[in-house]
Amino acid sequence: MSEVQLQEAVGRLKNSGVRITPQRHAVLEYLLNAEIHPTADDIYKALEGKFPNMSVATVYNNLRVFREIGLVRELTYGDSSSRFDCNTSDHYHIICDACGKIVDFHYPSLDEVESLAEKVTGFDVSHHRMEIYGVCEDCKKTPQH
Ligand SMILES: [Zn+2]
Ligand SMILES: [Zn+2]
Repeated sequence: MSEVQLQEAVGRLKNSGVRITPQRHAVLEYLLNAEIHPTADDIYKALEGKFPNMSVATVYNNLRVFREIGLVRELTYGDSSSRFDCNTSDHYHIICDACGKIVDFHYPSLDEVESLAEKVTGFDVSHHRMEIYGVCEDCKKTPQH
């Protein structure tokens, strides 16, 4: 992660009137560094040593603020907990069946699917999600028992 990215994100928070507490700053920094699309719990576990007074609820609270400003995207997967993505540009995800890791990859946005879906169903399409599943390189190296 570049320092510039962090400064930019902090700038956007300030412009939106959000107070930058040390915890909020740490959550943001962690998110920008994390390539794993962490859950709130992952973030909590990574930072609880540094902020003993912090709770999972605080982390959620911060994530909600970031989401409202458009700094992060929340990815929900049925009943399992949400994951957070600070890459808000258009991209797709590939998900490991074994460890649940989510990796970004880029592919031209499938706009034709959206316009076809609109034509066929009469919906106003807002967005689409596509996920590819498989086994990641790490898990291929260490077979699960
Ligand atoms: Zn894996
Ligand atoms: Zn992503």
